[in-house]
Amino acid sequence: VNLTVKCPYCNKLDSKVLDKRETEEAEATRRRRECLSCSKRFTTYERIEMVDLVVVKKDGRREVFDRLKVRSGIMKACEKRPVSTDQIEKAVDEIESFVRAMDSTEVPSTAVGELVINKLKALDKVAYIRFASVYRDFADVEAFQKEVSKLLKK
Ligand SMILES: [Zn+2]
Repeated sequence: VNLTVKCPYCNKLDSKVLDKRETEEAEATRRRRECLSCSKRFTTYERIEMVDLVVVKKDGRREVFDRLKVRSGIMKACEKRPVSTDQIEKAVDEIESFVRAMDSTEVPSTAVGELVINKLKALDKVAYIRFASVYRDFADVEAFQKEVSKLLKK
């Protein structure tokens, strides 16, 4: 079961592979699949170098890692802050390569979030606080307040 393949009929992510064939160029793998939800059959061509990375959310939902999402989260946090587009782009690059270097093709969303938090911490304290306050759990509130009061003292 490849979780990153969506059924073209019902958009569900669960399908089983019926057969698998290398294409002539051997650059892509052709897979005949059957959707586990609606039972319709469809074919996918998967390029070998395109290993999809799956982000597992807190509620167990899975979605394909999307660097645009990471970037928009960072941009939102950096709104009206002295952080350049280049800096943001570089941070996204570093986060993406770090995540892709992990052993697993499934990464918890919390791990991605923490990477963003660490990047923002180095880039801009206000952006960091903004992102962390939205992102982190209530359990971290104490640590978070410590951060804020540290900043206010400066
Ligand atoms: Zn389906």
